[in-house]
Amino acid sequence: MEGPNLSPGYICVRDGIIQAIGDEFVLSMRKKGEELIDLGEMVLLPGFVNAHCHLELTAIGPLEKTDFVEWVKELVSRKNSLTNDEKSEGIKKGIAKLMRSGVTCIGDHISFNTPLEAIIKSPLKGRLFGEVIGVLPEVCNDIYTSFKNIQKEFTFHPSHFTLHPSPHSIHAVYPETLKKVLTDEPSPLSCHLAESRTEEDYFKTGKGALARFIRERQHDLRHPGQSGLDYLEGENLPLSKLLVVHGNYLTEKDLSAVKKHSLSIVHCPGSHEYFGHKPFPLEKLLADGINIAIGTDSIASNTDLDFLLELKRIKKLHPHLEPLKILQMATLNGARALQMDLEIGSLVAGKKADLIGFCLDGNKIPDEAPLTADYVDWMMIDGKLMMPPMVPRPDR
Ligand SMILES: [Zn+2]
Repeated sequence: MEGPNLSPGYICVRDGIIQAIGDEFVLSMRKKGEELIDLGEMVLLPGFVNAHCHLELTAIGPLEKTDFVEWVKELVSRKNSLTNDEKSEGIKKGIAKLMRSGVTCIGDHISFNTPLEAIIKSPLKGRLFGEVIGVLPEVCNDIYTSFKNIQKEFTFHPSHFTLHPSPHSIHAVYPETLKKVLTDEPSPLSCHLAESRTEEDYFKTGKGALARFIRERQHDLRHPGQSGLDYLEGENLPLSKLLVVHGNYLTEKDLSAVKKHSLSIVHCPGSHEYFGHKPFPLEKLLADGINIAIGTDSIASNTDLDFLLELKRIKKLHPHLEPLKILQMATLNGARALQMDLEIGSLVAGKKADLIGFCLDGNKIPDEAPLTADYVDWMMIDGKLMMPPMVPRPDR
């Protein structure tokens, strides 16, 4: 991903930071009293970055409806019936599942009333994207104001997370508030974009199930344009701040804008499969130099919160993609998407010591070991060992 592949390799970790990585010379940096850990036959790589999830929805579990608008209605109703305790328990379970599959950093979408303690007190780090949503102006503005207030708390109580009020999507946000968020808030702004065919219909023709669903709530709401990105371009809004989540139905013009503004796209293979979207042109986008990160999305549109399963899905659908490319999407590309690549995403001196390890049982090829594993075998976050017992290894 960055730097040489070493075998055997040595990493010096001090104060939660990678001090050096290389061959035996690293051993000479060891100070008196510092621990030496021999991991044996194991491949080490940077912790995975799950660039898009909604931990607060974990308590809901997978939904059955796969029609997009019907799914949204069901989701909203189920989410509104959850208590804070249920949400918190779900968040804890979700974090444990993500960590078992090697995730050390997340880009998590939150609501204005998400209980955040379980996330903030977890060993993970990342970005919290406060979903500004609502087609009615007063609702949308109130939600935006709530996030601005929560953001002040973050200033007083620094954590491993930063909060970024972000547009949930283009179509579900009142246009004037959308403009304000995009103009006033700093990058990155994580936004569901070109996710479904019915969203495509809404922008292109103003018809379809999503258009009807929006009109039921706000009869004159319009976002004129051929696509969400097209609408934003037409309004001269700063596209370069966007982190594109999904991007399943991007037009050729959209892709030109993605390239022009060097936007990252978060591909969510499990959610993509759940809704049966048209094939995702992963190889083409990578060949075009677009930074593609990976996300689980919420469990409500997936089968599990298992990041390794997402990697297996990619490997299965794109068998010609080199394993190292998939691992780069899962690590450095994710860090770039979240604009955290100066601190995480690769094993280089100066970055945080967020490391994961997979045993090389028998003759496993190092690059392929993470793509066939069911669990991560070893984990360190900020130089602290996370397992056991944080990520218990099941009997095999
Ligand atoms: Zn999502």
